[in-house]
Amino acid sequence: MSTGSPVGSHRVVSPAGALPQAADRLDSDPDIADDEVRISVERLNLDAASYRQLHTAHGGDGEAIRAEVLAIIDRRGKMHNPVTGSGGMLIGTVDAVGPRSPLGLKAGQKVATLVSLTLTPLHIDDGLARWDGNSEQVPASGHAILFGRSIAAPLPDDLPEHLALAVLDVCGAPALVRRVVARRTHGATTVAVLGAAGKSGSLSLAAARDAHAAKVLAVVRDENEAAQLLGSGLADDIVVADATAPLPLARKVTEALDGRGADVTVVCVDVPGCEHGAILSTATGGTVIFFSMATSFPTAALGAEGLAADVEMLIGNGYVPGHADYALHLFRENPHLRDLFIDRVGTED
Ligand code: NAP
Repeated sequence: MSTGSPVGSHRVVSPAGALPQAADRLDSDPDIADDEVRISVERLNLDAASYRQLHTAHGGDGEAIRAEVLAIIDRRGKMHNPVTGSGGMLIGTVDAVGPRSPLGLKAGQKVATLVSLTLTPLHIDDGLARWDGNSEQVPASGHAILFGRSIAAPLPDDLPEHLALAVLDVCGAPALVRRVVARRTHGATTVAVLGAAGKSGSLSLAAARDAHAAKVLAVVRDENEAAQLLGSGLADDIVVADATAPLPLARKVTEALDGRGADVTVVCVDVPGCEHGAILSTATGGTVIFFSMATSFPTAALGAEGLAADVEMLIGNGYVPGHADYALHLFRENPHLRDLFIDRVGTED
C-alpha cells in the first residue's frame, strides 16, 4: 500500500503540480493509499448550476445529459463540469479504509462526502443506467476516493437519504449566513436572500432568522415560488424579481427594506448574471455572500469597483466547521423547509 498525500496530489494525472480540484484529470484507481478511503457509490448529487447548464445545453434531452455526465467522468476521473467548473457531492458506503486514514470512518458505514465532486476521484461502472438524466440526483454504482484531508459525514438515520443528500449538498450556505449575520454587532441587520425558495436559499433564510436578523427578505423568481414561501415564517417579506436584472432587483429590494439596501445579501440563484444586482441591492458597508457557483469573480469585482460600491464580497466556501450538523438541525426544526425540499427532490428515496 502506497503512502498518499493528504491533499490528494498523488492522484493528479495532469497538469503536474496541480491540486485535485484544479486538475484536468485524476487517477481513480480503486487501490487506496494508506491514508485514503474508498467509497462504494450509491448516488451522486450534481450541483444545481452544473445540472442546469447540462439541461440547457442539451435542451432537456435526458439521454444526452446522461451521456455527457458519463463522458466527463470518464475523461476527467471526476465529475467536474468544464463549463460551470462545479461538481456536487455523493453518498455511498465505506468500502475500504487505509490504516493511516484520519477520517474516523469504518467499513460498512453510510456516508455523504462533504468535499466537492470536482476533486473526488470517481469511477462509474453501471453506465448510470438507473438515471433518466432528468434530475440533479443520480442513482449510480462505482467507487470514489477520499483523501486524508477530505470530509465525510455519516448519513442521519432519521431522514430519507435523498433529502439528507440535498440538505448536505448546500450545508455551507446556512453556516456562512449565520456566521456573517452574527458577527455584525452594530445595529439591526437586514438580510436579502436571492433564490430564496431554492435549497440553499431556504436554508439561508432559516439561518438568518436563527442568527436574529432584524428583517429577512426572500427574493424569488415568480409568484409560484412566492406562494411556496408565504406563511412559512421563513421570511418577513417576499418580493418577486429577476435576480439577473440589476436595476429592478435593487429597486424592489430597497423598497422592501425601507429605502436601504440589505446589510447582507446572499446569492443562492443557480444561473449566471446575478453579481451586479446583488451588489446594487446591498447597503454601503454591507456584505454580499456569493454562494452560487454561477458567480463570476471578475464580474463581481469589477462591477463593485465600477459602481463605487463599498461592500465586502465573500465567496461561499462550502466548508464552515459544523456546517452539516447545523443545516440538518435547521431542516429538522422547520417543517416548511422539508416541504420546499420535497417539492424539488420528490418524496421517493
Ligand atoms: P436550487 O435549489 O435550484 O435554487 C436556485 C433558485 O434560484 C431556484 O429557486 C430558482 O428558481 C432560482 N432562480 C433561478 N433563476 C432565477 C432568477 N433569474 N431570478 C431569481 N431566482 C432565480 O439551487 P441550490 O441547490 O440551492 O444551489 C444554488 C447555487 O449554489 C448553485 O449555483 C449551486 O451550484 C451553488 N452551490 C454552491 C455550493 C458551495 O459550496 N458554494 C455548494 C452547493 C451548491 P427556479 O427553480 O424556479 O428556476
